[in-house]
Amino acid sequence: MIEMQDVWKTYPNGAHALQGVSVKINRNEFVYVVGPSGAGKSTFMKLIYREEVPTKGQISVNGFNIGKLKQRKIPYVRRNIGVVFQDYRLLPKLTAYENVAFAMEVIEAPQRIIKKRVMEVLELVGLKAKANREPSQLSGGEQQRIAIARAIVNNPSVIIADEPTGNLDPETSWEIMQLLDEINFRGTTIVMATHNKEIVNTMRKRVLAIERGQIVRDQLRGEYGYEF
Ligand code: ADP
Ligand code: ADP
Repeated sequence: MIEMQDVWKTYPNGAHALQGVSVKINRNEFVYVVGPSGAGKSTFMKLIYREEVPTKGQISVNGFNIGKLKQRKIPYVRRNIGVVFQDYRLLPKLTAYENVAFAMEVIEAPQRIIKKRVMEVLELVGLKAKANREPSQLSGGEQQRIAIARAIVNNPSVIIADEPTGNLDPETSWEIMQLLDEINFRGTTIVMATHNKEIVNTMRKRVLAIERGQIVRDQLRGEYGYEF
């Protein structure tokens, strides 16, 4: 469902972020992306959700060649991909409910469907009781749960998570991982960049290691493989 063929990405400043990446990620896989800082992990993820376009090579997501996508088709492809960040990126003046609902309003879902679906995903992430709180009234782990609820509310086929546990303590990180595992179990592909050695080595999944813009390792039930 995600396929890259000889993908290169050079930023305008000349940084060669990816250099000839080819990979296939199948429906329903859970993939960790590991590697040193500056290796190209974020770029790899940004290309999948079309935040960046490749300098060379092909990327297809659900059959769409997303490097060549017409501007008007971008929203359609994006709605099929949920994104989760290290720093949550919730809208601070909106409640948890409104943050999640907003993602459905953007795609012009009818209000009565929005209400039902938002409560359903808030329940799934365990935060129905805190629907009316603003992000500042929630812990980091709770904010990440809301961000995950927002990412899944439109039923995407893929979740891209860039260091989703990077700001969380170990126990909270595990809770977030259980949630992502559950979402994967229910049928969503997950691609997650992480520096969390303990998680990768315990919750064994496919591991892609990126170094200097290239995939240097691709293991099923792999390991973290670094000391940092
Ligand atoms: P990682 O996520 O593994 O830390 P990145 O994909 O963020 O790696 O970065 C890969 C390389 O591309 C680094 O050298 C980084 O400085 C550079 N880079 C990333 N984003 C940009 C950007 N928007 N403009 C210029 N260079 C960038
Ligand atoms: P990460 O923590 O994922 O590695 P970074 O701290 O490398 O992210 O980058 C943070 C933001 O700055 C990203 O949006 C990235 O694209 C951008 N960025 C990274 N390196 C550069 C760079 N050399 N020049 C311009 N923007 C950059």
